[in-house]
Amino acid sequence: MSLKNNPFINRPQFKHGAVPFDDIKLEHFIPALDYAIAEAEKTLESIKNNPKSPTFDNTALKMENGTELMDAVAHTYFNLMSAESDNKFKELAQEISPKLSAFKNSVLLDPKLFARVKALYENRDKDGLTSEQKRLVEEKYTDFTLNGALLNDADKKKVRKIDEELSKLAPKFSQNTLNATNDFTYHTEDENELSGLPDMAKEQAAETAKKKKKDSGWMFTLQMPSYIPVMQYADNRELRKTLYKARGKVSFGGKYDNQEIIKNTIALRYEKAQILGFEEHAEYTLQKRMAGSTANVNKFLDRLYKVYYPAAKKELEEVRDLARKDGVEDLQAWDSAYYSEKLKKQKFDFDQEELRPYFKIENVIDGIYKVAELLYGIKFTEIKDVPVYHEEVRVFEVTENSGEFLSLFYIDLHPRETKKGGAWMTYFRPQGLYNGKVERPLISIVGNLTSSTEEKPSLLTFDEVETIFHEFGHALHGMLSNVTYSSLASPDVYWDFVELPSQIMENWLGEKETLQLFAKHYETQEDIPDELIEKIKASQTFNKGLWSLRQLSLGFLDMAWHTTDPANIDNVAEFEEQAMEKTRLLPRVDGANVSCGFGHIFAGGYSAGYYSYKWAESLDADAFEHFKEKGIFNKEVAKSFRTNILEKGNTKPPMELYVKFRGKEPDPNAMFRRDKLLN
Ligand SMILES: [Zn+2]
Repeated sequence: MSLKNNPFINRPQFKHGAVPFDDIKLEHFIPALDYAIAEAEKTLESIKNNPKSPTFDNTALKMENGTELMDAVAHTYFNLMSAESDNKFKELAQEISPKLSAFKNSVLLDPKLFARVKALYENRDKDGLTSEQKRLVEEKYTDFTLNGALLNDADKKKVRKIDEELSKLAPKFSQNTLNATNDFTYHTEDENELSGLPDMAKEQAAETAKKKKKDSGWMFTLQMPSYIPVMQYADNRELRKTLYKARGKVSFGGKYDNQEIIKNTIALRYEKAQILGFEEHAEYTLQKRMAGSTANVNKFLDRLYKVYYPAAKKELEEVRDLARKDGVEDLQAWDSAYYSEKLKKQKFDFDQEELRPYFKIENVIDGIYKVAELLYGIKFTEIKDVPVYHEEVRVFEVTENSGEFLSLFYIDLHPRETKKGGAWMTYFRPQGLYNGKVERPLISIVGNLTSSTEEKPSLLTFDEVETIFHEFGHALHGMLSNVTYSSLASPDVYWDFVELPSQIMENWLGEKETLQLFAKHYETQEDIPDELIEKIKASQTFNKGLWSLRQLSLGFLDMAWHTTDPANIDNVAEFEEQAMEKTRLLPRVDGANVSCGFGHIFAGGYSAGYYSYKWAESLDADAFEHFKEKGIFNKEVAKSFRTNILEKGNTKPPMELYVKFRGKEPDPNAMFRRDKLLN
């Protein structure tokens, strides 16, 4: 097929560079990608073979621009794969992903290219670069060095070998946990055992039994949708105990044991870090994080421990008291979720369903736009003259009050069979320099929120509204990006910083002033009642200590694995016991192990990164407190948040940006205050 008719290469022009979705067909992706990669390789060759000494323009800028088409094809593909694709479309990923990673490796492993980047890096203070150009050079240089570019050939080989082995261990780890999880089922014919469970959980259990070829009864598994309701609602203590113990044993011993994989993984990570000149894996990982060092993460976790441990202890006493009234004298790990749920119901009994009428989706969308207008003076106007990938997608033109164009904003919020689960923000094009011109971005949010029916419009739960505010926060970050080079554009910042713009938006939702802007009954137009708002707010801090202590215990465990010389670790269970001891409030469960099922750090991207959940929370609480001090719609504070954080992307280290906004480093006390654990 001719490339001339390929819409990626001969791109039909639409307003603001909108994606020509109507023209893009399945068969266009691979030829466009192959062409784009070949072009990118040609550019790299010309950079490498340039006889002139390296300059920002002939090296860094050319590298930056060389992948423009490739990125466009990749972004379009992966966005559609998640939001609107059939199996045939999804299968293409198996061709596309290896092509992209092969290209990426060929760049980072190229010694000639690195030599030029290194020369730029070494002269970065002399060459009269702008601060953003300097940052671009530094970030590129760091990407190369963290990948081993400075090593001698023998060490480079070692690192490649380690990477290769690690890349096999991670999927083995998840395969083991998956197999071990699937291996367990609990079948019962006795309906009494189901007492307390919500109807939906019962129906699911009956369906599972049928699927597993049982003629009757109910079956429970260790998958979250089956496991969680049992822990929270099953009156039958034995049932809870059985499932809890089974879950604790996942991949700890038996056919699908992960202990050796853990030991190998941490040994290889440690070795790699040492070859690259770092103390240990955590120090290596934290190079491109806001936290910056192992010491900072540990300091942060210890600080939180001092507040959350006593709080959790107190909260657990209340749970224990309730259990005692129920005849349970020795509260165990399998009882705490159950009695916590009961306590929550006692304290804040309100039906989530009562809220829905106030959250008609059109009103909510209108609400977030009002919030954005009050804060940043920007406007959203729906447009119909750009292509969309599905008829449910709506597109808005985002402009400054002056009329200046900022971004296109696509929203696609309801479930379809062709869409994956969850909610996310994404972009078809980040803001930045293309073909010599700084272009505005194409931003999108996708979700799976309650759809309308024939009788009723789409009425959302509070959690769903919170999801919209969250994703809209990421979207604002992307829309307001104001950098020169797209690889430094918002929202792509260090990942312990990336949730600040999103999570901070959730705070507005908790404020009466915000809710009054849009939360009106869809039939009567009445404002949401104050006492409902109060109930929502009060329930948000329920058992915050216990929940946070759990997060902390995982953070400590993660850091322990990645800051210890593996030569000093021989028993996985003992090591874990030591790392988690200080956060334990309930009796130890024999035969249970957390590490063997801790996919986040052994099979996901969270190694030496689990702390970032609480880190991001402490940032958004501290930043929002600044708004609270001056008024939540204070224009000055909003302007400072916009110009110092949202617009800046990764053009400066996150802590520097944060301090510019806040006047000081983030203080976790703001989070404790929000959690009502400090006055
Ligand atoms: Zn997020």
